[in-house]
Amino acid sequence: FQMPKPVLAIEGLTVSFDGFKAVDDLNLYIDRNEVRVVIGPNGAGKTTVLDLICGKTKATAGSIQFENRELTKMREFDIVRAGVGRKFQNPSIYENLTVFENLEMSYPKGRKVFGALFFKRSAEVIARVEQIAAEIMLTDNLYLQADLLSHGQKQWLEIGMLLMQDPALLMLDEPVAGMSVNERMQTAELLKRISKGRSVLVIEHDMEFVKSIAHKVTVLHQGKVLAEGSMEAVQSNPKVIEVYLGH
Ligand code: ADP
Repeated sequence: FQMPKPVLAIEGLTVSFDGFKAVDDLNLYIDRNEVRVVIGPNGAGKTTVLDLICGKTKATAGSIQFENRELTKMREFDIVRAGVGRKFQNPSIYENLTVFENLEMSYPKGRKVFGALFFKRSAEVIARVEQIAAEIMLTDNLYLQADLLSHGQKQWLEIGMLLMQDPALLMLDEPVAGMSVNERMQTAELLKRISKGRSVLVIEHDMEFVKSIAHKVTVLHQGKVLAEGSMEAVQSNPKVIEVYLGH
């Protein structure tokens, strides 16, 4: 019997900015079907870790193995194509297109025909859009212009646009910022659903939300892992209380 290999295996990852190590000899392993949440004080290096994984920032040392590929040697665009999706805090949806069109143009095979005056949408594209719309709870809003969606729905639409590319790893930076309590609960359910068959990596400050989604929590501090484990274990760890949860 062999343990399944983690989808993402980060080892010795380090990045220095003018001699300052924002990420310092970091090891991080994430499995398929896992929702991992990274927490920690401001400046701990959380955003920089996501920047390193998606290739926006180049590592000074270390490796990022993703499904047997070495991401530190790849360009940002190729990392997306390899199956890494990232949602930033501000959604980059097309406000004057419909939900359907936003999803459609995010589909690798849908993009080719987009913009043509007359084209027949393939059954495959339609089926995929409908499937993702259901997943992100926007079935009833498919033909609504995106700017008419609520703040929370816009966030879900962007998640849907990433799902159209079927990433094996989905990374989200504070996905529930600005959402209502109800939208937060629905987002928690959404993230649990989409972690089936893939890995989800989330940066989050809202501890109630972290509790509701995390299989495992990693606490970053000064670019290093301060603690890792279940929410309960991490919450009662004196080092974590001292640098983060105590304030
Ligand atoms: P967090 O997301 O945990 O708040 P960040 O990853 O944004 O932390 O930042 C970690 C540290 O690295 C901070 O001190 C920040 O100022 C520094 N940093 C991040 N990106 C850069 C950069 N491109 N150039 C210089 N310093 C940076």
